[in-house]
Amino acid sequence: MADVEECVFCKVARGKIPAYILHKDEHVLAFHDINPQAPVHVLIVPIKHITDLEAIGAEDADIVARMFQAARKVAQELRFESNGYRLVINNGRPAGQIVPHLHLHVLSGRSFGWPPG
Ligand code: AMP
Repeated sequence: MADVEECVFCKVARGKIPAYILHKDEHVLAFHDINPQAPVHVLIVPIKHITDLEAIGAEDADIVARMFQAARKVAQELRFESNGYRLVINNGRPAGQIVPHLHLHVLSGRSFGWPPG
């Protein structure tokens, strides 16, 4: 359980680290990224400590669905839904994952290039 004790997003979920929280329920948490890469940059994280996509179990299917539903809810509530937005999961260090707790980046408010950097 040491991972959970030290995990920055678990600490946010438990209120031990302050964050600008947009949505919280028993399954998922949405809050503004501390280092935004776009005018809107929200993180959606499961309350359960799941390190990455490989750690998602069959029993977590509902949580994963709820992460996407939370992204949509944030897009509606912050009124950027009709402007388009990008969802990103950096899975693993080579892909840019720094925090080993599964999270969905929700980015909006500017144009996005493709391929991504
Ligand atoms: P990743 O590189 O995909 O692991 O993304 C981790 C994200 O978490 C980065 O965009 C960070 O800016 C963000 N982050 C790290 N610590 C915090 C925090 N305490 N509150 C909000 N966002 C954070």
